[in-house]
Amino acid sequence: MLTRRQEIIEILEKSPMSISQLANMYKMKVEELLEDFPHIKKTIHPKQLKIIPAVCKDCRFVFKERTKLKAPSKCPKCRSEWIEEPLFKIE
Ligand SMILES: [Zn+2]
Repeated sequence: MLTRRQEIIEILEKSPMSISQLANMYKMKVEELLEDFPHIKKTIHPKQLKIIPAVCKDCRFVFKERTKLKAPSKCPKCRSEWIEEPLFKIE
């Protein structure tokens, strides 16, 4: 049996996912799931957890400097709340 963290590692090695997709999958709160990530980062060494940045779906603004795992709520450029969530992958 794999633990949840091991499963998440396997999932993210295969395909990028957002934190809320994972939270849905495990019926967990995003905040609870975020607690797994420091452990995951240690476990996967020398592989790395990569973040595909969030993007505004209205103006395509990319939240490049943002390193937080959760999606930003608003676009600083056009004020849209229609934000494509950041995705995670392990490489
Ligand atoms: Zn925007």
